[in-house]
This record gives sequence, C-alpha cells and structure tokens, in this order.
Amino acid sequence: MKYLDVPSNEEDAAKELGAKFDADSNRWFVPDGLCTSDFNLWLPVEPNIQLVAPIFLVTSANRCYSCNEISVVHCLGSKAVFDLDDQEEIEGENPVLISNLSIDEPEIERAISEVAPLYNVDLSKTQGQQVYMNHCEKCGAKLGDFFLHSEPGGAFFPTDEHPEMPLQKKVIVEAGRFTCSGSYRYPL
Ligand SMILES: [Zn+2]
Repeated sequence: MKYLDVPSNEEDAAKELGAKFDADSNRWFVPDGLCTSDFNLWLPVEPNIQLVAPIFLVTSANRCYSCNEISVVHCLGSKAVFDLDDQEEIEGENPVLISNLSIDEPEIERAISEVAPLYNVDLSKTQGQQVYMNHCEKCGAKLGDFFLHSEPGGAFFPTDEHPEMPLQKKVIVEAGRFTCSGSYRYPL
C-alpha cells in the first residue's frame, strides 16, 4: 500500500483510478495489487535537499506568456542547501535559490501562504508532479519554474542581455533545517 498526496479537486480522478481513502490518516492510498505507476501524479516526491535557515522568500517580476502583463513571481532562497544525495552543503554570498519545490513543513508552508498566496502547490506538466508554482497576478496562468529559472532572461535566470531584476529578499523563517525536494542553483 502506498500513500498519495491528492489535492481536493483531484480526489474524484484518483478514486476513479482505484485509489482508496484511509479515514484514520486522512490520506488517499493505492491498494495492494494496483500498479502505482497509474498514480505517479500523486506519489509523494522523495526529498533530496535540506534547506538551512534563514529561509527567504525571493521576489522578482516576469512577463506573463499568456496575458503579456508583468506579474510578481517568487521562489524560496536559503542561506545554504545540504544536498542529501551528495552529502554536501552549498553556501554563498547570496541565498541559494530553489525551484520545483515540494515541501511538507507546516512552518514554511504557512509562511509562504501568508506572504505569497499566488505561489502555491499546483500540477506542473513539465515536472509531472505537484510542486510550488507561481500564478500570474493578472490572469492566473501558471508560470512554471522552468520558464522562470531555466530560460535565459527569466526572472531568476539573469543574462547580460536581460540583467536580473532587482531581487527582493524577505526572511520568512529564522532558524531550522527543512527537508524537501527541489532543484537549487549555485548562488552568485
Ligand atoms: Zn497573465
């Protein structure tokens, strides 16, 4: 039996594929005998990094590909990142920026939802997973992290031609280490 993270608006779809609800743990699961690959969308993401506080909410702006307006966008930054695969800690002058974030840490989730409600968990088609995603403040379109972090000139990918917009950093959590899954970029 394998537990799933199913958003409330996708419960019917999960049920149709055969997922069952466990009232004790308040979670959906794949009963034994069913192939879990049908449920990839909702399988919890394995943690690969640990964020070392202070944790920052980093804010920039990007043009929306859908409505062509400028929207505020966010990501998390942390003083350092400990890579659980390499057993190596990465730290620099500036915060390490995190993309494709999936996190199960109430303190961080609460802080994000208070400061940046349009940065919330949604289905990334690029990732095939539920991750934190930005949403255009004008039209609501999903602004995927690939678009913001990996396309030259994106809000979090400065180039000479498209210098980085001034990033604003706000500490949202002062202390602690937080396990999560995501990609990180070496700090500048
Ligand atoms: Zn838009």
